[in-house]
Amino acid sequence: MKNGTSKHVLVAGGAGFLGSHLCDALLSEGAHVTVLDNFQTGRKQNIRHLEREPRFDVIDSDIIKPLPTRLRSKRLKVDQVFNLACAASPPHYQADPEHTMLTSVVGTHNLLTFAEATGARFFLASTSEIYGDPEVHPQTESYWGNVNPTGPRACYDEGKRAAETLTFDFDRAGRADVRVARIFNTYGPRMRADDGRVVSNYICQALAGEEITVYGDGSQTRSFCYVSDLVDGFLRLMAYDGPFPGAVNLGNPVELTVGDLAEKVLAMTGSSSRVVTRPLPVDDPRRRRPDISLAKKLLGWSPRTALDTGLGATIAWFSDEQANDGTLPRKIPAVGGTISAGQV
Ligand code: UDP
Repeated sequence: MKNGTSKHVLVAGGAGFLGSHLCDALLSEGAHVTVLDNFQTGRKQNIRHLEREPRFDVIDSDIIKPLPTRLRSKRLKVDQVFNLACAASPPHYQADPEHTMLTSVVGTHNLLTFAEATGARFFLASTSEIYGDPEVHPQTESYWGNVNPTGPRACYDEGKRAAETLTFDFDRAGRADVRVARIFNTYGPRMRADDGRVVSNYICQALAGEEITVYGDGSQTRSFCYVSDLVDGFLRLMAYDGPFPGAVNLGNPVELTVGDLAEKVLAMTGSSSRVVTRPLPVDDPRRRRPDISLAKKLLGWSPRTALDTGLGATIAWFSDEQANDGTLPRKIPAVGGTISAGQV
């Protein structure tokens, strides 16, 4: 609550996986939430349970277009803007790379300008992808990254790097009060079955008795954060009232290979699916683990959900989806390109 009244929060991308969980958390804190979403990867079903909530409304629009008149009304008071609007899984963001890049650059600029005009605090959902295929391990915020600027991942990686640049420039010029989170791999209920990500792919494949697709030799690593832990980090970072702390890593530092993750999902689902290998996508990072010392120090934040617990909840959610719908959407799009030189 702000001065006895409920704060008004704009969540761009609020119908997505992370956005819809953020909306739930904001509403439970008493906020009024307006979602802005183009439903490219966001889904109505993620926010259907909020339809009757009087403090919740939805605008169907793309952030790369001029913001809707309703938002530009002089009378509207918005206290916080979260920018979570962007396709985030490799197959989805590579499906329309030009749109992905513009979402991060033009879309972020539109929302920053809006935050400047309304005096709202602005939050950018950045990503561990800005570190590219990292030469520093684990990744600290001071590392500048190793990104291929012309590869198939660049539309997302370089787009988010440019979004960070814009956000830092608005801060330097005193034009907006900003926060930047670098989000590492996150999983949980409401991931799309057709997302093409490793956690959703493995779980859907295991539940459907299909082959588990390990890309490359499965030795590449990721560190997986459960969605509620991440959202808790978002709220703490947005509530942080000190001077702009720069970008802050948010993720779970427990690292494992994607081969080991396949074995874990098989064991937890009791599936008899066979593990098969597929070519490693171009520019697939070899290792990724967040250094979260800054988030710990600044926000008193660290993830609390163990991988087994979070995977259990995610498997249960996908099982329910399968039971309710009869079947999971099985069309898993392929990531662009094939194996690149030097990668096996
Ligand atoms: N991956 C895999 N099998 C799949 C999907 C992904 O082995 O069915 C691998 C992928 O090559 C990458 C890791 O899992 O090394 C994480 O991929 P994801 O798309 O989930 O996230 P990101 O690459 O963006 O971290």
